[in-house]
Amino acid sequence: MNLGLAGKWALVCGASRGLGRGCAEALVREGVNVVVNARGAEGLQQAAAELQALGAASDNGTAPRVLAAAADITTAEGRAAVFALAGGPGTDFDIVVTNAGGPPPGDFRDWDREAWLRALDANMLTPIELMRATVDGMAARGFGRVVNITSSAVKAPIDILGLSNGARSGLTGFVAGLARSPLAARGVTVNNLLPGKFDTDRLATTFRAAAAQTGRSEEDVRAAQQAQVPARRFGTPAEFGAICAFLCSVHAGYITGQNLLADGGAYPGAF
Ligand code: NAP
Repeated sequence: MNLGLAGKWALVCGASRGLGRGCAEALVREGVNVVVNARGAEGLQQAAAELQALGAASDNGTAPRVLAAAADITTAEGRAAVFALAGGPGTDFDIVVTNAGGPPPGDFRDWDREAWLRALDANMLTPIELMRATVDGMAARGFGRVVNITSSAVKAPIDILGLSNGARSGLTGFVAGLARSPLAARGVTVNNLLPGKFDTDRLATTFRAAAAQTGRSEEDVRAAQQAQVPARRFGTPAEFGAICAFLCSVHAGYITGQNLLADGGAYPGAF
């Protein structure tokens, strides 16, 4: 299937590794020019070089451009730096994939106002600011796609991830309204993509922490968690990226305001 995206411009945040990287790869394969963002400049430059090579090798006509914007996307300065690199105040992206690290786990009794504000900034207000800067330009051009990477915890909250549950639920409520605003009639879709367990550095970090706490080996922790997923495996960033690219495609123009779960069947509900 031709996704109809060659030549468009995308901003993919948190894209040096993991799920954001998977999204950037899938878009570049489709001939999309991308601005990739992450905080660590070295890892990001490496990722950008590999994405550039992937785009050049893909059979989509022209080699897409890949620009690297090293910045903390959860700060106003970071976002300004990303938009400055892209050549304007954020008005010329056709696709925006919002993403940043998730908040730490813990006990809500230990989280003060500052901890909550950090989580809200990173996982609710940053995506909203990125949409604020881009969706009107998309609407003016008659095409736009926003994909927010959130979490399966939005549908099935996990007790120790209270900061994530709260901040991402706020974003989810906001998106439900925005997606149904007049933007919908002007070619702009806004959706959330909810990962269950995907094999990334972040997941590996949680295995290490669980192993250290319980005295079990990391392999045991990994195997036990895999056994809880009906698919009996974790997802891959490439699978996640392919879903994201489809949501961004010309074929997905009638999908908006949705929360699409990719979790190998882990969520037990019918709806
Ligand atoms: P990951 O493998 O740790 O990758 C995170 C990426 O985001 C890296 O490129 C990282 O690079 C970048 N990043 C982190 N904080 C950033 C910031 N403030 N500004 C810009 N870039 C930033 O994580 P992942 O597994 O792909 O997870 C991505 C998101 O999905 C997270 O919010 C996570 O909570 C959520 N999620 C993941 C899973 C899963 O199973 N993997 C499940 C549910 C939810 P730098 O560190 O260099 O900035």
